[in-house]
Amino acid sequence: MRTAREIQEEIEARFGFFPAFFEPAQDNPQVLENLWQQTLRAYVENSLPVLFREKLFAWLSRYCVVPYCLVCHACALRPLGMKSSQVLEFLEALPPAHGAIDEVLARMDATGKAPGDWPVPGAELEEDLFRCSVFLFVQQAQAERCRERIRRLLSPMFYGHLTAFLAYVKACHLWVEAHPELSYEADPRVRENLGPMLREEPRLGDFFARYGERVRTEREQRERELLEAAEAGQRAEALSRTLSRQAEALRESETHLRLAVESTALGTWDFNPRTGELRWDARCKALFGVPAAAEVDYATFLSGVVPEERARLDAAVGQVLGPGSDGEFREEFRIRGLLDGVERWISSRGRCFFDAQGRAKRFIGTVLDVTERRRAEDNLRFLAQASTLLATSLDYEDTLRRVATLAVPMLADWCGVDVVDERGRLHRLLNLHRDPSKLRLSEEVHRRYPIDPNATVGSPQVLRTGESLLIPEITDEGLAQYARDAEHLRMLRELGLRSYLVVALRSRERVLGALTLVRAETGRRYGQEELRLAEELARRAAVAVDNALLYSEAQKAIGLRDGFLQVAAHELRTPVTALKLNVQALVTSARREEAWSERTVARMMGLERGVGRLGVLVDELLDVSRITSGRLVLHPEELDLAGLVREVAERIHSEAERAGCTLRVLVPGPVVSRWDRLRLEQVLSNLLSNALKYGAGRPVEVALSDFGERVLLRVRDEGIGIDAAAQERIFERFERAVSDRHYGGLGMGLWITREIVTAMGGTIHVESAPKQGATFTVELPRV
Ligand code: ADP
Repeated sequence: MRTAREIQEEIEARFGFFPAFFEPAQDNPQVLENLWQQTLRAYVENSLPVLFREKLFAWLSRYCVVPYCLVCHACALRPLGMKSSQVLEFLEALPPAHGAIDEVLARMDATGKAPGDWPVPGAELEEDLFRCSVFLFVQQAQAERCRERIRRLLSPMFYGHLTAFLAYVKACHLWVEAHPELSYEADPRVRENLGPMLREEPRLGDFFARYGERVRTEREQRERELLEAAEAGQRAEALSRTLSRQAEALRESETHLRLAVESTALGTWDFNPRTGELRWDARCKALFGVPAAAEVDYATFLSGVVPEERARLDAAVGQVLGPGSDGEFREEFRIRGLLDGVERWISSRGRCFFDAQGRAKRFIGTVLDVTERRRAEDNLRFLAQASTLLATSLDYEDTLRRVATLAVPMLADWCGVDVVDERGRLHRLLNLHRDPSKLRLSEEVHRRYPIDPNATVGSPQVLRTGESLLIPEITDEGLAQYARDAEHLRMLRELGLRSYLVVALRSRERVLGALTLVRAETGRRYGQEELRLAEELARRAAVAVDNALLYSEAQKAIGLRDGFLQVAAHELRTPVTALKLNVQALVTSARREEAWSERTVARMMGLERGVGRLGVLVDELLDVSRITSGRLVLHPEELDLAGLVREVAERIHSEAERAGCTLRVLVPGPVVSRWDRLRLEQVLSNLLSNALKYGAGRPVEVALSDFGERVLLRVRDEGIGIDAAAQERIFERFERAVSDRHYGGLGMGLWITREIVTAMGGTIHVESAPKQGATFTVELPRV
């Protein structure tokens, strides 16, 4: 190893002086040798152009906090031909901006220069090399790209020299920073040039004095820029992440939407009101019955809608697109497949979007086939209507006619009802057709070729088996098989039958008839759905028919019973009257003659009462038949009602005594008008008898009030009373609110009373509560 002295001598020999730079290493030959060898190889023997090299050294030394390198190398520029102002300008130049690197690299790429020589001094390429070197030195982030470009442009020798030089500059900076006491003043380059340079450009002194601060600001600025750039990068990255997440979410929601659209069988449409362009998706086209490849427009849409609904729908669309619209579109309408002719119910929902001027710009929405739902609703409505209609008649034929009228045209073009009469004969009860001309023809067919009850098709079969029959398609062969001769076939063909079904009218396990439904003109074939509907209609109709039959049977039975009652009452009346007279005579004579024991007299009086009651019952029976057959005739005469009340109360006195009731009679002076005496007697004695019967042991009161135009008759007791629920009912025939075990009676008295009072133009009502007694009030007009 050489001594420090030997090395120093070599340095001096090379430079002509010993640069202050090496002074701190003077005592350490190893360090000095190392420093010198680096200087020799990377600086002294470096083949980079001297000016480029010095400028780069000077400029990069701005980043060294000790001014030694900066001042020495700036001063070295003067002998190389740079003016002081140029030096200042050069040193003040800002480092290339962060973003400038792309430009620089692009320019270097564009030169197309083959690797090798150093560029022409002062050429742009040399300047770009300078900038690249700066980047390589100070901008770690860009270093790699710069290194790669420099390597491509320069020969390995120049590349090696340049990178070694940069490393050397860095090492120098570290060295002088480690020895801040180093002074440039002793350096001959400085001594020779600094003075003149400062004179030429005094601001240079200023620059040297403050460059540290300047570079720090520069650096801070650069760092800020970098930070901002990094932040912007992060933001951009975050944004792009968000965007990609959103795009993903959008893709996902699109998939969901598509799935939803697919699973709900929604079709979609998109209409541009400005251009008139209409787009339908495949499902929408399928619903409207147009081929998937077909072009459509608004006219296509309208022509798909059934004619009856077109105007309404066109107006609805116009309204949604028009001014003041809320953009909501929601319609349900019927369409007929443009090519397949199939009718469907469509539910469409849409939204119209408007521009800033309020003009419609886009109208999009969906369509859904709701035929099933509508049919189900129609069917329900139809059945509900049927039930209402069927409930309104108790006439058997009328009920069936109602069924047929309902079925045509809703369910059929033609409807027939066949029944089996009491003697087991089949006959057609009804024939209904939506086209009257066809009705004549069908009746003609029926007349000439009556239904064969033994036929193995149609209604005879259904009547026999009770099973429904569905022929979705009536073929010509089918008709030919069924026809009995050529003329029959011709007529059947003329009827244009297409599809038919027969269902049994069955109630309580009895087949009452068969309902035949036929479709001709409307073209729709019957299917299972129609069959089920027809069966339900038949079931309801059969119940109604059965009710009508039961009703008419009941009516017949009631008629028979009333007839019997009338005859019986009539026949009973004569012997009962005779019996009554004889008993009365016997009682009178027994009382008078005193020959009879008291016991016998008492028994005879009991007999008299019994016969009396029998007479009342027979009279009631007679009245029932009279009233039901409308033969209640009044015989008005002038009478004093007050007197009549007293009379009846008097007559009933002994009965009241037996019942343990005190009878109070509250009547004003005479209340005279024209009334039927016997019937009013009957009303009074009915009400009083009931009061004694149901109010036994408690007082009973009868009161008469005169209000001029009308009079009020009140009978009040304090007996068992009547439940509110029964108060209306007890005025009906045979209605009672007590059990037969406790109280005898037929439940006719109040009914007859009400009929009489009503016939007199009056009313009767009761006020009562259980165990609170009852007050019956009769209001009669004065005639
Ligand atoms: P009947 O007395 O023969 O049963 P009515 O037609 O006279 O027939 O009366 C009908 C029903 O009204 C009676 O069964 C009874 O339940 C009720 N009713 C009538 N009058 C009274 C009354 N004063 N108090 C309580 N219930 C009465």
